[in-house]
Amino acid sequence: MTAYDDLRAHLRSAHLLGTTAALLSWDQETMMPKGAGAVRAEQLSLLAELQHQRTTDPRVADWLAACEADPRTQADPDRAANVRQWRRDHTRATRLPSALVAELAAHESTAQQGWATARSKDDYRRFQPLLDRMVVLQQQKADCLRLPGQSRWDALADLYEPGMTAALLRELFGPLRQQLVALRQRLTDGSEPDDAFQRQRIERPAQETFVRAVTTAFGFDPKFGRLDTSVHPFCTNVGNDVRLCTRFGDDDVLDALGSTMHECGHGLYEQGTEPEHFGTPLGEPVSLGIHESQSRLWENHVGRSAAFWRWCWPLAQRHLGAACDGFDAARVFRTANRVQPSLIRVEADEATYDLHVMVRFELEQALIDGQLGTANLPGEWNRLYREYLGVQVPNDRQGCLQDVHWSCGLFGYFPTYTLGNLYAAQFAAAADRALGGLDQLLERGNFTTLREWLRRQIHRHGRRHSPAELCQLVTGAPLSSAPFLAYLEQKLGSVYRLPA
Ligand code: ZN
Repeated sequence: MTAYDDLRAHLRSAHLLGTTAALLSWDQETMMPKGAGAVRAEQLSLLAELQHQRTTDPRVADWLAACEADPRTQADPDRAANVRQWRRDHTRATRLPSALVAELAAHESTAQQGWATARSKDDYRRFQPLLDRMVVLQQQKADCLRLPGQSRWDALADLYEPGMTAALLRELFGPLRQQLVALRQRLTDGSEPDDAFQRQRIERPAQETFVRAVTTAFGFDPKFGRLDTSVHPFCTNVGNDVRLCTRFGDDDVLDALGSTMHECGHGLYEQGTEPEHFGTPLGEPVSLGIHESQSRLWENHVGRSAAFWRWCWPLAQRHLGAACDGFDAARVFRTANRVQPSLIRVEADEATYDLHVMVRFELEQALIDGQLGTANLPGEWNRLYREYLGVQVPNDRQGCLQDVHWSCGLFGYFPTYTLGNLYAAQFAAAADRALGGLDQLLERGNFTTLREWLRRQIHRHGRRHSPAELCQLVTGAPLSSAPFLAYLEQKLGSVYRLPA
């Protein structure tokens, strides 16, 4: 056995612990009876502790040093990439003192429960002391992680999107915000699509067979995954086994379809990684921004396109029956692309979604840098919603208490949603060029060609390249907001029948 083999086997076992914890979390969100909560929290905490012990085991440092000194490592690109990423993960994990890791885990659990109560009672003051403590702990975490000259926010954001900084994001977001606000204003001059199809009441079993048929057509492999329901849609990989969760209401089948296509996009990325690299960085997704690009590409560029609806309409008629009477593909395509500035991020349309993200990006930087106190958060939140989205926030429940992220300690995470939208548009444009027109494929129900292209270009590389390198390799250009804006202009121009 070489040091590389020892290291690989050891960290594979840490990965197995992580995926076991993921299965317990999946169960908690879908199947677990309420009474099991306290013991489940103990089980998850024990697994997290064991995984952290394995990752920070002193032998890992020795094996890493041996691998880095071994010429065979550099001679083998797969080994070199794995060792590079293992080093990055190890440095991170060992920089955080275990007392801080434990306190963060405990406070995340307390703050998340406190947030849920405060949100249901619309009582920000109840949550404020918990958020205060969370900000302090995140500042301490950032101080442990950051490199000389690196800001606290950048150190946190790098956990989710390697290489991304607030300065780079400001360059992307500044012009994007102005153009999105201008686009939103122009749409008010167009002809507004109707929402009658969304208000059709449809039995849940019919909705379910319909959305399942779409995931099958997209190529989600049920031999290595499942589709279930949960309150909040999500996707998790619990081994060689990808769990998608979606939601159904009594009406609005477009919401169920959108959520399902979104999670299916995440699932196709997970299923597209190379089995031979399981348990190593080359078998893992590269970043949250790239992950989100895959979900948004299938949800929006495929599933909200006119070509998709031309293919999908007979399928909808077959499964949804009388609910489709009096409608057609063109009308439902327009309904699926309605733009309406709203208060809630997760319900936002494609043209306003990123404005929600930008509000959070501004505010969390100010919180972490200490420029904004938590007492002033609701006021600043409401002010930015007026400025960016033109909406009046009536209460904190629909305002700064709407998202779980900050209560779970996820600072530096929100921008990955917008990065996902930008990457998705740039990848979709590259696929369109490489495959000779996506629309012709989608309207024939050929999703395989696109899925295999994404797999070759993105999924199978795992963490071999940084997100920035990957973007350059796949699209021939660095990340830019131009493809996203061009896509929105083109599609929404046709939906709203704006003069060209
Ligand atoms: Zn997502």
